[in-house]
Amino acid sequence: MSDTEYIPWISQFTELFGHDYFVQVSQEFIEDDFNLTGLSSQVPYYREALYTILDYQVETAEDKNGNNNTNTTESSKKTELPNKALLAHSAELLYGLIHARYIVSKQGLTAMASKFERNDFGSCPRYFCDGMHLIPVGSTDIPGQETVRLYCPCCNDIYIPSSSRYLNIDGAFFGTTFPGLLVKMFPEIENHCKIRINKFSSNDFGLKLFGFKINELSATGPRMKWLRMHPKTELEKLEYEKCEYDIPKIINEEEEEQDIDDDDDIEEEDDEEMDDDVEEADDKTMASE
Ligand SMILES: [Zn+2]
Repeated sequence: MSDTEYIPWISQFTELFGHDYFVQVSQEFIEDDFNLTGLSSQVPYYREALYTILDYQVETAEDKNGNNNTNTTESSKKTELPNKALLAHSAELLYGLIHARYIVSKQGLTAMASKFERNDFGSCPRYFCDGMHLIPVGSTDIPGQETVRLYCPCCNDIYIPSSSRYLNIDGAFFGTTFPGLLVKMFPEIENHCKIRINKFSSNDFGLKLFGFKINELSATGPRMKWLRMHPKTELEKLEYEKCEYDIPKIINEEEEEQDIDDDDDIEEEDDEEMDDDVEEADDKTMASE
């Protein structure tokens, strides 16, 4: 009777509250030792945790205590056995780390892509992203550092999940590589973004007053939009920087004129100078006198 009610550990885990970002890692993936390389040093009670995930019988400290009438020679081993809570934690950690590896495999990417398609991870809150589906991401690959975040492929920004149920899900269980790989594997995601961005033409946010467009010639109208513009091309950036850090040319000329003013000798000596220059210098001297 109890066999019919049996639910595999992985199914139980993914059905837990707040675990709906996870996909079910295939049994074959976990059973392939190559996929678990290096994880044994990161997870306490690694072997027991692995057996738990794969639904093998694992003996815990509680089991031992319960059966005190068994062999006394085995009681020395008692300290090596994890208690249930510790084992549960180790199993979750191990599953999470395997999950991060699984979702960057072809099989895992496909499974996550269909969750993305169904909008299981929620939509981008940014207005211009027009409800773009989000992709779970970790800000680090080291477990126990940061909780899971959501990446928007349209605005390239990262958001904290809106529901508090995800606030104790480790970001390392999704990893830093996953969203980039998903977008690379499924170019239609980028196309989706382009469509969304193009949907909002610049006209939507053009200047209007009581619904009327502002005249081209108005002092604050479209003609003066350069005031609100940022340099885009390299040439514009260069011009912008020059404008900000270089002394404009007009000021330079004035300085030269002032120099001429300061020593009057130059005026008398350089009579061959351009007429205009002399005139200007004369004007200056007249004004200063
Ligand atoms: Zn966005």
